[in-house]
Amino acid sequence: MLAARYLGNRRISVEEMPDPIIGRPDECLVRVMTCGICGTDKRIVSEPMVREDIQGHEVAGQVVAIGEGVAGLSVGDRVVVYNLIGCGQCDYCQRGQITYCRNTQGSVNGGFGEMLVAPERNLLPLPDEISYERGCLLSDVLGTPHKAMRLAGLAAGEAVVVLGCGPIGLGAVRIGVARGARAMAVDMLDYRLEAAAGMGAAAVCNAGREDVAEAAYAWSGAGADLSLDCTGREGAALTALACLRPGGRAMCVGANRRMDLDPWKQIISRDVTLGGSWYLHHEDYYECVELCRPSGLDPLSMVTHTVPLEEIARGFDLFIDQRESCIKVIVSVCAR
Ligand SMILES: [Zn+2]
Ligand SMILES: [Zn+2]
Repeated sequence: MLAARYLGNRRISVEEMPDPIIGRPDECLVRVMTCGICGTDKRIVSEPMVREDIQGHEVAGQVVAIGEGVAGLSVGDRVVVYNLIGCGQCDYCQRGQITYCRNTQGSVNGGFGEMLVAPERNLLPLPDEISYERGCLLSDVLGTPHKAMRLAGLAAGEAVVVLGCGPIGLGAVRIGVARGARAMAVDMLDYRLEAAAGMGAAAVCNAGREDVAEAAYAWSGAGADLSLDCTGREGAALTALACLRPGGRAMCVGANRRMDLDPWKQIISRDVTLGGSWYLHHEDYYECVELCRPSGLDPLSMVTHTVPLEEIARGFDLFIDQRESCIKVIVSVCAR
């Protein structure tokens, strides 16, 4: 099969590689149709070393072979790949809350190759009426902000401030609006703010020109009910807190490792809650599928570029250098 190999420092070659094979009875062989390029991929491809494994984790595809122990899937089924491999046994895994499993067994990557092998329990059904292009956005891009907003108890009518209008932030705007909230989107790049308005944001704020907390208060009247940090920037969670009304909630979604917090001033004295949310649970996927049905949310509007697997290096350049007003890039692997 054809697959992308990372040669270090952003160099990628698309090469003929051995087809993966089913090694355990609970596994399936999946033909990859589409795979999104994610912020995580940006970091990995930029590392200096050559990687032997195939990356790519925002996958939609079709089952082409099944192990002898597979009971719930058949050849020909359309699926979305859930990245994290849980133990499959614990209560959390039984409930689809795989990020809580204490015995996770790695992850399913390989979306930048024509085939991958995944355990049956990592393959979530993709309804016929949702294209593969949309399908690959249903896990990370939509499911991740969906889980953050679900855990934060977002209610219809609430005012939400979304910091960062990359794919996850735009997904947050779209899902917040779909759930009946009002959204203000924040970014430093005007073309991303335009995309957020296209996703239904009622207001936008350019953080390079405006004070974000002031803009949030001016827009919401009393401060936001909920804010989401989708930037991954150090300290942005503090801005998320500063946007809140007393009693509001802030969620950290973009990964960063540091902030300088004064708990009394920024949390305790204002009765605000600071939380976090990583990736998605199965229920978030199913709810995003419902939001994505025809006539509903169209996540494809954030996809600015689609490239064939042979041109994946160009897709990464567009994404990393933010050229051509790039927001989200999808790689067409076998969906050509
Ligand atoms: Zn991702
Ligand atoms: Zn488990």
